[in-house]
Amino acid sequence: MENGADMYAVNLYGLNVLHLAAQGDQPLSLYYFKSQHMDLYAPDKRLSTPLHWACFSNSEIALIYLLAWYRTDKLNLQDVDGYTPLHFTVKAADQLKSGRPLRALLMKGAIRDLKDKNGQTPFDLCEDLKSRKTCRELKESLSQETYCDCLMLKSTLKKAERSLQLPITFLVLFDSIYALLMLFLFPVWQSGTVVYLNLAFGLLTLLFWFWAQFLDPGYVQKPKDVDFLTLMEVVDPLQLCPECEVVRTSRARHCGVCNRCVERYDHHCPWINNCVGSNNHNAFMYFVYSLLLTLLT
Ligand SMILES: [Zn+2]
Ligand SMILES: [Zn+2]
Repeated sequence: MENGADMYAVNLYGLNVLHLAAQGDQPLSLYYFKSQHMDLYAPDKRLSTPLHWACFSNSEIALIYLLAWYRTDKLNLQDVDGYTPLHFTVKAADQLKSGRPLRALLMKGAIRDLKDKNGQTPFDLCEDLKSRKTCRELKESLSQETYCDCLMLKSTLKKAERSLQLPITFLVLFDSIYALLMLFLFPVWQSGTVVYLNLAFGLLTLLFWFWAQFLDPGYVQKPKDVDFLTLMEVVDPLQLCPECEVVRTSRARHCGVCNRCVERYDHHCPWINNCVGSNNHNAFMYFVYSLLLTLLT
């Protein structure tokens, strides 16, 4: 580049450096050219974007990085044959024998039912796979079958966002139950000790619930004096988070709902609308124990 190489040059098929970096699973090159303001959605002559190529070539690390940078509406661009990146993850699944790329795309918001030029959706293409096991795995991920979606007993793979729906439901239910108890049960209850214990545990439950909800769960902080390109040159790309641009420890994970990396990540709890991690793990456990004691008393 310093000697005048043209980074916008394309070959006979219209492939530029980003398409080739995606084919070759090279996240460092992808990040470098992205930082040079190259167009991540640039199509080649067959209208394939770097994301199409990462999916077609089973370039899993490049895919993770591209998904971190791609806008949701650009995940479903179709090439000349009508294939989306999701179609390509199915077509390439026999070689990889895994549905990881397909699940990663769905979790970022890829649309499952777009049809190619032959009228086939990614679900239809699963039938062409040689491995029956992979075919079943992919069909399961693409299925939109749900049981009690609101309670997440079985929910469809999709992009999730933070929502106050379940915390408000919890608060309304909890308060309504206490209002009914105070009106009808407590006045006639024989043992005053049990009533006071129940009220104390109830108050503690609410206190810990608020505490777990509003505490920083342990977000991994961006290093102040090292840029991400330097980090990429010395750290394994799989240990870095391209969305938060931080180094992840072995127990840190990126939460797709909060869109942040959390230290000692346990899970994202929709009832507190927050992650459970190193900073609020104790508060969350106190909330669970006090809720249990409230129910028992
Ligand atoms: Zn992250
Ligand atoms: Zn979260």
